[in-house]
Amino acid sequence: GGDSTVSITVVGASGDLAKKKIFPALFALFYEGCLPEHFTVFGYARSKMTDAELRTIVSKTLTCRIDKRENCSEKMDQFLKRCFYHSGQYDSEEHFTELDKKLKEHEGGRVSNRLFYLSIPPNIFIDAVRCASSSASSANGWTRVIVEKPFGRDSESSAALTRNLKQYLEEDQIFRYFDHYGIIRDIMQNHLLQILALFAMETPVSLDAEDIRNEKVKVLRSMKPLQLEDVVIGQYKSHAKGGINYPGYTDDKTVPKDSLTPTFAAAALFIDNARWDGVPFLMKAGKALNTKRYSKEIPDAYERLLLDAIEGERRLFIRSDELDAAWALFTPVLKELEEKKIIPEYYPYGSRGPS
Ligand code: NAP
Repeated sequence: GGDSTVSITVVGASGDLAKKKIFPALFALFYEGCLPEHFTVFGYARSKMTDAELRTIVSKTLTCRIDKRENCSEKMDQFLKRCFYHSGQYDSEEHFTELDKKLKEHEGGRVSNRLFYLSIPPNIFIDAVRCASSSASSANGWTRVIVEKPFGRDSESSAALTRNLKQYLEEDQIFRYFDHYGIIRDIMQNHLLQILALFAMETPVSLDAEDIRNEKVKVLRSMKPLQLEDVVIGQYKSHAKGGINYPGYTDDKTVPKDSLTPTFAAAALFIDNARWDGVPFLMKAGKALNTKRYSKEIPDAYERLLLDAIEGERRLFIRSDELDAAWALFTPVLKELEEKKIIPEYYPYGSRGPS
């Protein structure tokens, strides 16, 4: 609503991930108009820093989308003015109480919603969650927590971490592990499906955005949900080339060793109308391939995670018909892949993907 605020606290704000991914993703959301009118971003970490020092660091990482350069620096200034910093320990209720006081000042008596992004090593997650929930959770709005991967080393440690978190949080307050099926959700469902819809739609009555969207929705609705037998998934494995050892997906220390997450997907989609009857539309997307056509998937994933956490269940109601249609096409097969624990085909880093 118009009179509520969102306060986003980046816990571990002095770290690499905060600088490289989280602040830029928050700025992108602000730029796109996806953040509420009243929002505040707080950095929290042990390092000593002033608000101005944080802003200087953050300002160096912000970029503008190529197609939207105009008024970008103005937007950056507006964003940076909403960024603040508080230094404290991760296991100190007292320090989180100080943060709470500062958050309240910025919230100015409005309904306060609070999001904590834990961008810290996993061994201090529980301390931070305990302190945030006891001393800095919202008194009159929601409080949610984003937990960075690695969420445990395997399913056992991940279950233990979840049990511990649940001492302080309900399931619907916790947001995590977003890269699961990232390649299908981020690249296929977003970018490729958009292009396919634009290509396959009937001619809109005008080039007005609404008219184009109407035609896109029509063609999306006439597509058949993706079938398991029309999908190939893959995951890249380590590969030595020219004396260089390229790591596999599961060699990343933040990825569970037994991860089945696809880093590649190819799919055939069919449109159930007279014009495209029987014509397969082939989509292919992957990471660590020999060509790099989509390099923006990671920031997108962070933006989407933040947006999901901010909008929460509200999203189910405000989602556009276009997004609904796109989810309906991909959700059944994503569920099936997960339930049947389908093993991806392995392909060497830097190759063309599975044969
Ligand atoms: P980081 O730089 O090691 O840690 C973030 C901040 O946490 C540091 O600036 C430091 O802040 C504090 N910290 C570090 N080690 C600590 C310790 N032993 N005890 C208490 N505080 C400590 O990590 P990061 O690269 O930003 O990543 C944050 C989290 O995301 C980690 O869990 C990491 O595994 C995960 N992750 C990172 C990436 C990436 O690209 N970097 C990708 C995926 C997942 P102060 O000293 O100022 O308190």
